[in-house]
Amino acid sequence: MSVIDEVKQRTDIVEVVGQYVTLTKSGRTFRALCPFHSEKHPSFFVYPEQQSWHCFGACNTGGDAFSFVMKKQGIEFGEALRLLAQRAGVTIPSRSEQDTRKDERERLYQVNEAAAQYFHNLLLSSPDGEKAKSYVAGRGLLLKTIVDFQLGFSLNSWEALKQYLVERGYTESELLAAGLVVEAETGRTHDRFRNRLMFPIFDIKGRVTGFGARALDDSPPKYLNSPETPIFDKSSSLYGINLAAAAIRQQDIAVIVEGYMDVITAHRSGFNNVIASMGTSVTEKQVNILKRLTKNITLALDADAAGEEAMLRGVGYENTLDAEVKVIVLPSGRDPDDVIKEDAKTWQYLLEEALPIVDYTFNVVTAKLDLTTARDKSLAVGNLLPIIAEIKDTVRQAHYLQKLARLVKVSERSLEAALRRTKASQGRRGAKEPARESVTHPLHPLLSSPIEEYCLALLLQNPELKAQSEALSPEYFESSQNREIFIAWQQANDLSSVKDKLDSAIWEHLDYLITKSLPANQIEQKYTSCVLRLREKFLRSLETKREAVLALEAETGGTAAELAKLEEQGIEVSIQLGEVFTQKKQMRSVAKELRNELRKR
Ligand SMILES: [Zn+2]
Repeated sequence: MSVIDEVKQRTDIVEVVGQYVTLTKSGRTFRALCPFHSEKHPSFFVYPEQQSWHCFGACNTGGDAFSFVMKKQGIEFGEALRLLAQRAGVTIPSRSEQDTRKDERERLYQVNEAAAQYFHNLLLSSPDGEKAKSYVAGRGLLLKTIVDFQLGFSLNSWEALKQYLVERGYTESELLAAGLVVEAETGRTHDRFRNRLMFPIFDIKGRVTGFGARALDDSPPKYLNSPETPIFDKSSSLYGINLAAAAIRQQDIAVIVEGYMDVITAHRSGFNNVIASMGTSVTEKQVNILKRLTKNITLALDADAAGEEAMLRGVGYENTLDAEVKVIVLPSGRDPDDVIKEDAKTWQYLLEEALPIVDYTFNVVTAKLDLTTARDKSLAVGNLLPIIAEIKDTVRQAHYLQKLARLVKVSERSLEAALRRTKASQGRRGAKEPARESVTHPLHPLLSSPIEEYCLALLLQNPELKAQSEALSPEYFESSQNREIFIAWQQANDLSSVKDKLDSAIWEHLDYLITKSLPANQIEQKYTSCVLRLREKFLRSLETKREAVLALEAETGGTAAELAKLEEQGIEVSIQLGEVFTQKKQMRSVAKELRNELRKR
């Protein structure tokens, strides 16, 4: 998370504004005399839910906590950030510290890349690699696959890799940090991977983050992975994601298997949307990575572990994805590698027959039960009801409650009552968990704005769009960091001067936008559609705020003049919204495509 996001999360706009003006709570908003213009009747409002403020009086403007402090103190974004960071107890690493950390990570990627290349060459062309070569040939892998996955071989030596890399200018401490060497008790270091078939693990950007390694002799363990390093975290790695991402997005479905060889065999047979969970059960972080590519995930589970895995985590994944997860169960004792190799059609068939994870769990639970007996009926309810209670989607929850009622031949109403009790007890259990963050700074959910980011990324990456940027106003960007970047971009001639104009704290966010992957077609139309959506979002949010104020004014007896003014502003907003709709209608097809792209992000 960026420092800016961290500060945002720990900052409450009501507290911040409350330091400068006297706020009065009215309904879900807070109001005050505007600190930016002189007035007798308060028209300045703070909205805790949106973490924003707006003045409906002479200013007729608004923003977030950052823009409030900037305006009030007459300071730049960077200063406002430091002020709010201090209040929130967040330390901002200095630019040089940030650079150093980034450089260190960069070196780790480089040293891994060099090691992967070294292992790969050994497999392809060294006499020592023959054994590994015949192993992969025995698994039916051709040269193309070996090259695609950059498979490699580590020599049966304690220092071969170390020497090779040190000669190329890497330090021992860098090798240690990358997990390529191990420090013995004597303080000496030696190669971690020896006499093994090497599987480099890439991230979605194609950078080598770590290695998996299979023993070619009897040395335990059979599979050895890189340890956790600043760039390698097993729980957020997906083997094969660098090669699978495009297919997953295109086919709109991802299949998760367990082993490296399963992924390789699948790809070799043309199933390019397959990735592996790194031998552990699938994690929330992995689901989050996939979520940007597709909502459709199928788990290919091992017959032995399948039931438990599905029951324990399935619904959690579904809630994260906001979609159904499916399961295929492999024939006992077989892994995807075997199944696909024997007959690719079987794999295809299994995928087509994949079961929704909750249905599958029903099967697992009831398989061992005799549902004509009272005892087993109550066992089924006892096992399945907590799972149903976890489902956030109310329609699907109702569906499975009906299914359970039919299964155990009990009325749905009595199960509903039991479900409510289960939910209540799950809720209590949740409440008892100790708060992870300090009590003085409760965390606010980050209100992310994909449309703001998409629009900015389009602008930054396509200089030719500058000519048509008048339709955009800085006001449309509610998040201050986006607003800052937009303003800098308006004033700058090229990317490097955008950077020069910005506080270094925003650079990370800027880099993210500049490198964000975007579609290459219909750029101009998508940009226009984006601007429309942004404008619509801005107007709607303004409208919601204005309505809240209007209701309040009517209640508390605002003067006729003020009511009239608010009405007038409302009419203006309606007219503008009308314009947006007319234009949106004209470009419906682009808008639809844009919606799909945003959904996948
Ligand atoms: Zn004002």
